[in-house]
Amino acid sequence: MYMHCPNCHHILVKVLLDSVEVDHCNFCGATLFDMNEINRITLTDARRLAEMKQSDVISGEEKLSPRDGSPLVRITNDAIPQFVTILHSPTTGEVFAFADDLVNFKKGAKCKNFIL
Ligand SMILES: [Zn+2]
Repeated sequence: MYMHCPNCHHILVKVLLDSVEVDHCNFCGATLFDMNEINRITLTDARRLAEMKQSDVISGEEKLSPRDGSPLVRITNDAIPQFVTILHSPTTGEVFAFADDLVNFKKGAKCKNFIL
């Protein structure tokens, strides 16, 4: 079953990183993580994912989980810099991050303390 990007609705594809396989949008560069997967990728991985994007489009629509349609809500957490937007689904535990936000999150010194 295909899942569609919550941002631009292109089909998400599996991308195998060093230690984890993620669902990634090759169009807008966003990544959908299963619960805790975001903690298993490196800054290098985040940059690699960001480099694949073909567009900087960020839709103004509400973002919904491709699994259950639940609204994705912004995570506020000490480990996330204020200018970085990372969304999650409270029902499925998925985490959704735009390409540049993911890179900026992984650059942050506190990203290793990230706990949902
Ligand atoms: Zn997308």
